[in-house]
Amino acid sequence: MCGIVGYIGKRNSLNIIFDGLKRLEYRGYDSAGVAVINEKNEINYFKKAGKVKELENEFNGEVLEGKIGIGHTRWATHGEPNDNNAHPHFDMNKNITIVHNGIIENFKTLKKKLTQEGYTFSTDTDTEVLANLIEYYYKSKNNFEIAVRLALSEVEGTYGIACMCKSEPDKIIIARMGSPLMFGLGKDEIIVSSDAAAIVNHTKNVIYLEDGEMAVLKRDSFQIKTIDDEDIQREVQQIEYDLEEIEKGGFEHFMLKEICEQPESIQNTYRGRINFETGEVKLGGLDSVKEKLINAKRIIITGCGTAWHAGLVGEYIIEQFCRIPTEVEYASEFRYRNPVISKDDIVLFISQSGETADTRAAMKEAQRLGATAIGIVNVVGSTIAREVDCGTYIHAGPEIGVASTKAFTSQLMSLILITLMIGKHKGTISESELKEIAKELKALPEKIKQIIEKRNDYKFVAEEFKDSKNFLYLGRGFNFPVALEGALKLKEISYIHAEGYPAAEMKHGPIALIDENMPVVFIATKDKTYDKIISNIEEIKARKGKIITIATDDDTEINNYSDYILRVPNTLPIFSPILNSIPLQFLSYYIATARNCNVDQPRNLAKSVTVE
Ligand code: GLU
Repeated sequence: MCGIVGYIGKRNSLNIIFDGLKRLEYRGYDSAGVAVINEKNEINYFKKAGKVKELENEFNGEVLEGKIGIGHTRWATHGEPNDNNAHPHFDMNKNITIVHNGIIENFKTLKKKLTQEGYTFSTDTDTEVLANLIEYYYKSKNNFEIAVRLALSEVEGTYGIACMCKSEPDKIIIARMGSPLMFGLGKDEIIVSSDAAAIVNHTKNVIYLEDGEMAVLKRDSFQIKTIDDEDIQREVQQIEYDLEEIEKGGFEHFMLKEICEQPESIQNTYRGRINFETGEVKLGGLDSVKEKLINAKRIIITGCGTAWHAGLVGEYIIEQFCRIPTEVEYASEFRYRNPVISKDDIVLFISQSGETADTRAAMKEAQRLGATAIGIVNVVGSTIAREVDCGTYIHAGPEIGVASTKAFTSQLMSLILITLMIGKHKGTISESELKEIAKELKALPEKIKQIIEKRNDYKFVAEEFKDSKNFLYLGRGFNFPVALEGALKLKEISYIHAEGYPAAEMKHGPIALIDENMPVVFIATKDKTYDKIISNIEEIKARKGKIITIATDDDTEINNYSDYILRVPNTLPIFSPILNSIPLQFLSYYIATARNCNVDQPRNLAKSVTVE
């Protein structure tokens, strides 16, 4: 969840670590800290609750000299996010210092054992226990690498760690179990990070650590081993994207940039994968399971949050176009509820980061039960991407804003491509229908651009409703999950309470909430449920609710029913969730900015949820 950065080389490490931490802040940001070893082999550090910028300001001018250092942005799991609990942590003798991402699940048992050995603790974190455990072994073995190995062999839980030892000041040791960690190889320097974003402006040559592995990093060499001390040879890989891609590019927020990138990100998802003449889809990553997919008796889709909403749309379209029974599960429920899964089942795992802890655990469970695990992931080389049986990347590009936008629409596009591939080969989609869909798909980026050009209209509506206490989002069919996603987006970044419902369900409870203060967003684009939606709008109007509709450009009838209309171009029903999501993303963005909320770093949230 947090960000880790480390540096060992010829340059002063502090600025490199600060720069890296700022790029990683989106992963978790309740506190931050750095520790640096100087020429006299002393460890100096500072840490503080709040943003990296605050840490930097606080220590402005007080430069920590040293060519080896580690830094951290924390998303607290154990102990409140105050200065003291911020990382780096130390053993009681201040010989070992460590930054850690994840949770040491057996920290209480380990703490008890160390307390009996005379160790004392000054923070509430699980991480400090690990620092002391390493020191405990260091005292008897006098070897940093062995001490880390022995300590980790006692640890249960998840970790990505980077640690340093005052008595062996020429190295950083890193290790990974369940939390991403990699290092970039520069000229006479190595940069460690939990995310390529902190490495890419120094080098594109990276090595990804796998679970159960640790590495000893020196300025000009490195050695990877398993935690059980077996040598590992690992190939250097190239980071595929540039720094500009991860920066804001003139937009006020990453979220706005990412919303506006959707004409390109959608295109990147389907580029080279569909024949526009015939509608034939080829997904290289799924070649090995194509037959299995076509003959599947059942498909299960899992994910968390926005990815789960994408999965719901997937259920609707796969059942509609492929006639394969499809279920959608929260990954966190799937893993613990003893699901009935067999080797004939296909389970799709949707995760933007490819690091979502619950989704990964669900994947492991499905694989253990013999199912075929297919990933739908954005981050190349991420854990889920590497561990699934096969998969397809959504290629949406780096998504930094915590509230997912372009990854959601690219997840939808990936599910559409899978649907078309299966439907064609099963014969459940006719040739002419396929051609029509392929033709419309080609027109989609242009239609998304038209929505983006109208974004000032959304600003106006946002101003009107920025002080609302509640919102209701209603949709039917393919657009019911879009209503859920619209409500989630608003909650996440503006802290306004919002609920999404299937429009007809509204009568079974939520209608009790309607009065003149309740804005209700209807997704009312033309499809076979249009007339039913109009009736639902009438029901809300009769109770004086404020009606905001998402409607197609050519729909004049809707004027009679709406207080505010957000227009989208006409499209085929299969693509309407993609187009209809975009005005809802803008709406929540502009409401949140009108309320002065920090949209890129909303409170209590983190981009990639790598803890359960
Ligand atoms: N469990 C550790 C803590 O609470 C690390 C949390 C994180 O991943 O940021 O400090």
